Amino acid sequence: MNATGRCLCGNIEYGLSQEPVGLDVCHCKNCQRQAGASFIPFVAVPLSDFSVSGSPKIFMDTDTVSGNGVARHFCGDCGSPIYVVVAGAPNTAYVASGTLDVTEHLHPKCHGWTSTRHAWVSLTDGAPQYEMDPGLQPESV
Ligand SMILES: [Zn+2]
Ligand SMILES: [Zn+2]
Repeated sequence: MNATGRCLCGNIEYGLSQEPVGLDVCHCKNCQRQAGASFIPFVAVPLSDFSVSGSPKIFMDTDTVSGNGVARHFCGDCGSPIYVVVAGAPNTAYVASGTLDVTEHLHPKCHGWTSTRHAWVSLTDGAPQYEMDPGLQPESV
């Protein structure tokens, strides 16, 4: 394992067999609602490199602007968002980076859905910004 993380209460733990670096920061309204926050930064990793212990609950988020359904995996005990799987990229886990144990090396790779960015959030990191869908990671199956 090169990276580990967990939910707030610790009932869900996970490991990644590769070290994530770049963040896909999602400013969409649905991520804002799920997190109760202004955005969710995600690290995209192949599902096959992602192992979870515990039993996350899954909310099937079908009311999306993109039309892509999103399976939102979260802790049913403490509510932490853990990861999402998007219908258009079924072999990729987008892991909510706030749940990682080590985060110092992370930096934004892109910002998506900035059309619903909260006005007070200034994006000064130089990463590309997309008003809507930033496009999904190419998958190697
Ligand atoms: Zn929990
Ligand atoms: Zn989102």
